[in-house]
Amino acid sequence: MKRFLISMLPVLAIVSSCGDASKDLPVPAEPLEECIYLGEKTVFSVWAPGAEAAQVRLYRSGADGSAFKIVNMEKAKGGLWKAEVGEDICGTFYTFTVRREGKWLEETAGIAAKAVGVNGLRGAVVDWSRTNPEGWERDKSPEVEPSDIIVYEMHHRDFTAHKSSGNPHPGKFLALTARGTVNPEGLSTGIDHLRELGVTCVQLLPSTDYATIDEAALDCPQYNWGYDPQNYNAPEGSYSTNPFDPYSRIREFKQMVQSLHEAGFKVILDVVYNHTFSASKSGFERTVPGYFYRFNEDGSFANGSGCGNETASEKGMFRKFMTESLQWWMTEYHIDGFRFDLMAIHDIATMNYISERLHAISPDVILYGEGWAAMAPAYPAEKLSFKDNVAQLDRIGAFSDNIRDALRGPLDCSNAGFVGGIEGNVPNVIFGLVGGVSHPDSSVPAWAAEPLQHVSYASCHDDHCLRDRFEIAAPEASEAERIRMVKLAQTAVLVSQGLPFLYNGEEVYRSKQGHKNTYNMPDQVNAIDWNLKSRYKDLFDYCAALCAIRHAHHGFCLTDGTSVAEKVSFLKVDNPCAVAFSINSLEGIDSAKSLVVLLNGSKEPVKVDIPHGSYVVLCSDAEASVDGLGAYTGSMISADPISATILAQAE
Ligand code: CA
Repeated sequence: MKRFLISMLPVLAIVSSCGDASKDLPVPAEPLEECIYLGEKTVFSVWAPGAEAAQVRLYRSGADGSAFKIVNMEKAKGGLWKAEVGEDICGTFYTFTVRREGKWLEETAGIAAKAVGVNGLRGAVVDWSRTNPEGWERDKSPEVEPSDIIVYEMHHRDFTAHKSSGNPHPGKFLALTARGTVNPEGLSTGIDHLRELGVTCVQLLPSTDYATIDEAALDCPQYNWGYDPQNYNAPEGSYSTNPFDPYSRIREFKQMVQSLHEAGFKVILDVVYNHTFSASKSGFERTVPGYFYRFNEDGSFANGSGCGNETASEKGMFRKFMTESLQWWMTEYHIDGFRFDLMAIHDIATMNYISERLHAISPDVILYGEGWAAMAPAYPAEKLSFKDNVAQLDRIGAFSDNIRDALRGPLDCSNAGFVGGIEGNVPNVIFGLVGGVSHPDSSVPAWAAEPLQHVSYASCHDDHCLRDRFEIAAPEASEAERIRMVKLAQTAVLVSQGLPFLYNGEEVYRSKQGHKNTYNMPDQVNAIDWNLKSRYKDLFDYCAALCAIRHAHHGFCLTDGTSVAEKVSFLKVDNPCAVAFSINSLEGIDSAKSLVVLLNGSKEPVKVDIPHGSYVVLCSDAEASVDGLGAYTGSMISADPISATILAQAE
């Protein structure tokens, strides 16, 4: 999410009466394929049980002109209507129309269009054998061990639109195929920057077709995060070089995935099945009105998304649609994982069904989402994928607002949290450090069954970036102190047992000029100025060192809750804004026998007793190195104000 404030609202389930159309509609046994191009013929299908008639209209253009052919469809099994066009119509476009109660509903590209024309208004008949870039058949996801997962959340325009990125395809899918790009001072940008940083998974903000960018007017400056979904199975056109050509967005999306895979990154897609940009204009309402959404008792659209509607994942056909859509992105586009927007709108049973189906395609698929909704969904809360129900989810995680708010302060920016020296945050920092699982030293009730179900983070696209936040929440601090605060927050994220997640540009001290909800603000606000990498090179180097330390020390990712409870032990600290812990008995897991960490958010130096031993100092006084800053033998760990210390005990 997006344009509304996210918060954990009290969940009052409004049980919907739902429309009559929701009851017992037939669901087809075979996958929903709305357009199958077979050369000499094309087969069209639309799911419209209860309709009186259905037609497919063929067009020469993706947006203009009138239909050159209208074909009546015939009723088939499972609520489907089908039509066959017995000639080669590759390169044409299509819409469906459905008649109900004597009235033809408005045209739609359907609910599952995989290729579309400009602005996604019409489906496109394409020859899929022509959509693959060279070498696509050899494309393979890189192997990334669970302990090496570090997610980097990215918006296409944020990451490459600024001229300082030196990218030949600014803001496009193809930007992520460019290698050797640098900022004006010669420091790497783009993919090379990510490799230098050491993240392993790129999470793309919504990259499937969304509504609010006019793809026909890309010469005009436009920006949107993309949480306004339109066609779920087609890439967004504004990120392609030619949104009028249906092949462009498909092929270039695949080129991007191929390039990221070759560079060693898994690709995670941010998916927004919880609502559609418009209900009335959606394929859902234009084929089976009243079925795919939840409704209030007065018949109005329920609005758990805060965006005007909420989808009904519990309905058989929505579940099938969502599952097949995700399968499509995995099989056709080689996507490695999904981040579910407002996941709490989706029911647990559907999410677990999806997890089972997607793990059958790849046992390594990465699944997590927002365990909250914008407003109370119209479905019983105990059946929904709220954060508190995550332990019932099968291999699906959730973002931890526990560690996020504890580290950086509350949503209202009234203080800068643990890293700002604010007392009272230690319990939720500890909770995050153990990956949200049950632990004898954690007083916050566990909601994760396994630590990788807990997404550890200090910031994401929502709300302020860390620099802006600390400028507001800690106005008395110097810039040097605020950079130490950023470093300390990201250190906590990267030494946590959960799944670590970084927001693009925090590593170069990005600013969004004090803006919080920048979902539609121009590039001048959102695009990362890569000159900052030169100016804040020390911060970048620190973040890269922390990533390297995590990769080198698997003790920071024990992957199961039992090991976390057994091996992580918190040490007594005489300061209300400091946390110290050791990770022990790491033989066979880590090159170190044990790891010791002290996080000090206070303005005072802190000292903590530790077992006597010989240690390598990996991090101290806002500096870090995977090779070690020096050696230490003794029985004490100390940390300067607003800093972390990490020690690795030698064998
Ligand atoms: Ca679009």
